[in-house]
Amino acid sequence: MKVEVKQSLIHGMGVFASKDIARGEVVLRVDDSRIVDDDNPVREDLGESPDHCDCLYGGTTILMGEPERYINQSCDPNVFVYSVNRIRFVLAMRDIPAGEEIAYDYAVNAVDGDVWTCGCGTSNCRGRHKCDFFSLPEVRQLEYLPFLDPEFASLHKDKIQNLLNRTHRMPSK
Ligand SMILES: [Zn+2]
Repeated sequence: MKVEVKQSLIHGMGVFASKDIARGEVVLRVDDSRIVDDDNPVREDLGESPDHCDCLYGGTTILMGEPERYINQSCDPNVFVYSVNRIRFVLAMRDIPAGEEIAYDYAVNAVDGDVWTCGCGTSNCRGRHKCDFFSLPEVRQLEYLPFLDPEFASLHKDKIQNLLNRTHRMPSK
């Protein structure tokens, strides 16, 4: 394991690098096997929480496993999600020294999510914002483009093309 779960400075429990992780390295493989539906509801009596549910691109709801359910949001993230054949991997966006908290930007790969207040404490924190990639400032959307999940990028290719066309025509000064 390259990560460990412990108390976070951002929120509740968090996931931390337990050793140095290089940019591009796979930090962990996400376990999306626990599907939540009418036949398999969230069992709060067994300690499961609706807060740990995630909606996949095809509309399937899953209950996130450990440790990924503890990965917090940051407006200055150090990891991103890349999926292939419906298997999600968390990759390092940059070198992550041992001891640093692992965090991704929840607005990446999200559309029409909740409005909520981020408490990441980074200098570029968006504070209260909508969890929606296309609601991010365009400069930020462009910065995140290489880190979009290919599945998300394919699903929203028209909107992404619009973004590129629009920003292509922006005056350069
Ligand atoms: Zn923030």
